[in-house]
Amino acid sequence: MDKLLTLEEVIEAFDNIVKDNVDFIYPQQEDQDPRCKCVEQYDEEDEGIERYDYSDCPWHMNDDNTCLYLKDGTSTAPACVVGHYFLELGFSDLYNFEAKAPTFILDAHGYEVEPRAQRFLNAIQSSQDQGYSWGESFEQALIDAKGPQ
Ligand SMILES: [Zn+2]
Repeated sequence: MDKLLTLEEVIEAFDNIVKDNVDFIYPQQEDQDPRCKCVEQYDEEDEGIERYDYSDCPWHMNDDNTCLYLKDGTSTAPACVVGHYFLELGFSDLYNFEAKAPTFILDAHGYEVEPRAQRFLNAIQSSQDQGYSWGESFEQALIDAKGPQ
C-alpha cells in the first residue's frame, strides 16, 4: 500500500531544508549568475530568442532555465529544493527523473500525495525556478497549498 504524504509532513520537511538556506536563489540563466555555466548562444535565425549551451552547467538541463534535482543530473548532490527533499526521503535513482513533476516522482516511489501537499510541492518548485529565494518560495507555497480562503 502506498504511503500517504500529508501537507503537514511536507511543510515540516521543507521548513527544515529551507531554514538553513532562506536566502538561497537558484541560479538563473538570464541573470549571468557566475554559478551558472550555461553559455548564451547567438542564432541569426532565432533573433530575439535566447538560447544557452547548458552542457557544462551543474544547475540546468536545457536552454529553458529548467532546474535540476541533482547537480549535473548524475551525482548525488542535490540542486533544487525539491531535490534536497527527495534525497532525504532516500530516493537513490533521482537521475532517472529529471524534469519530471514532483508528484510523478513520489508516485513512482510508492507515495500517495495529498492534493494540498501536491500544490505545495508544485508551488515551491515553480517559485524557486522563477528566481525567488527559498524563503520566499516556501511562504508562497504555504499560501498556494491552502488555496483560496
Ligand atoms: Zn546554467
